[in-house]
Amino acid sequence: MNIILLGPPGAGKGTQAKKIAEYCLIPHISTGDILRENINNNTNLGLKAKSYMSKGELVPDELLITIIKDRLSKKDCSGGFLLDGYPRTIPQADALQMILTESNKKLDVVLNIDVDDEELINRLSGRRMCSCGASYHLIFNPPAKDEICDRCGGKLYQRDDDKAEAIKNRLVVYKKQTQPLIEYYKKKGILQEIDGGKDIQAIFENIKKVLEKYD
Ligand SMILES: [Zn+2]
Repeated sequence: MNIILLGPPGAGKGTQAKKIAEYCLIPHISTGDILRENINNNTNLGLKAKSYMSKGELVPDELLITIIKDRLSKKDCSGGFLLDGYPRTIPQADALQMILTESNKKLDVVLNIDVDDEELINRLSGRRMCSCGASYHLIFNPPAKDEICDRCGGKLYQRDDDKAEAIKNRLVVYKKQTQPLIEYYKKKGILQEIDGGKDIQAIFENIKKVLEKYD
């Protein structure tokens, strides 16, 4: 089974990706992870990627797709794969389509974890930090005493990135970038919407129900 996983920040995409990979016995391929792997192993591709990243530049699409092509050609992908973090744009989706066709593979399904904005803002804005390095979440991992660090007794603060306004902006950027991709896969008839409004296990049950149709 060849799967792409899409979802906004705060949707729990990483957690679901791990669960899907275990359930389907396929490798979880995260673009961030394979970039790091190539860089740590000093591969040719890794060295090239590093030359951009060390200048604070984005890794160009051409290089990124070469790294993904290399990863998808590994033996463990012969029974399927789960792509996480790629593609993000239509040109990237086209490039992926091309390398899959070249190797006689095709995408089976694109899972889009759908969570409403209010819920995402609640989840993402709950994070609290302490200057000692500890981090908390008001809902998922609250400190024993309000706004006070369990570890050092320091006063907790909220990072600017985690404030509701900043999160709204991130979501706007995400949607603007991803909406065309969702339309693209909808037109191909392989998009499946997943209700991501509940807890981790409930979301995974929804995903399993969708995946069962493909067995
Ligand atoms: Zn602390």
